[in-house]
Amino acid sequence: MTTLHTDALVLRTVDVGESDRILHLLTPRTGRLSVIAKGARRSVKRFPGTLDLFNHLRVQVERRRPTSMARLELARLQRTFHGVREHPSRFALGCYLLELLDRLAPEGGSREELAALFRFALASLELFDTSEPDARLRTLLELRALEALGLRPELTRCVRCGEALGAGAGGAPIAFHVGEGGPVCARCLREGEALLPVHLGTLRTLDQGLRLDLGRLDRLGLGGQALAEARTLLARFLRFHVGVELRSERFLSDRLG
Ligand SMILES: [Zn+2]
Repeated sequence: MTTLHTDALVLRTVDVGESDRILHLLTPRTGRLSVIAKGARRSVKRFPGTLDLFNHLRVQVERRRPTSMARLELARLQRTFHGVREHPSRFALGCYLLELLDRLAPEGGSREELAALFRFALASLELFDTSEPDARLRTLLELRALEALGLRPELTRCVRCGEALGAGAGGAPIAFHVGEGGPVCARCLREGEALLPVHLGTLRTLDQGLRLDLGRLDRLGLGGQALAEARTLLARFLRFHVGVELRSERFLSDRLG
């Protein structure tokens, strides 16, 4: 039997049987981890109001056999994000982020990367626990989520030849290849390829969005045509990686655009 003590963020909960609950957790040690909390809905002693979405927990998890689902033995609440639950647009963005992490976070991997992913998840919830999300914040957060997941698009160089991008002739948009994960320069573009058009300025603004502290993302100017292009790019890019529409996506788009 192996025992794990770790911090964890609750990404998803599913009630099973009469009193059990399955939780999808994100932890800095293992990445995504599914556990079963036996008697969760009866035992207020072991799990006092802790096993809900958005909760940052300290947990003890035990695995009896390598193939069986791990069991949640203890959970202590470290932090709950009240501000996220109480405002519809924050809640919508929060649910979307959790769902994205639940879909794309790896199960295992390099310790450093998993710890960074966990820090990103907490910092994001902290950010919109207090701020008012809009389409701009959503877009930048999607980009940062992709980066934290090791999936971020290339923004400054041609994905085929590696050359730094210059502006298109007369400020014309650049072709972005969603499947290859970045822009394709005019020399590498094959005849008849229909790629997503995006202006260099949009890619540069997104690139800046990767360098800012998460808490300062709201200082980045992203609006008008650049925001519309960035939204399309991120939506297509995420769809490519997730493969399906997320359950929370429409709810979020109705609220934030
Ligand atoms: Zn090229």
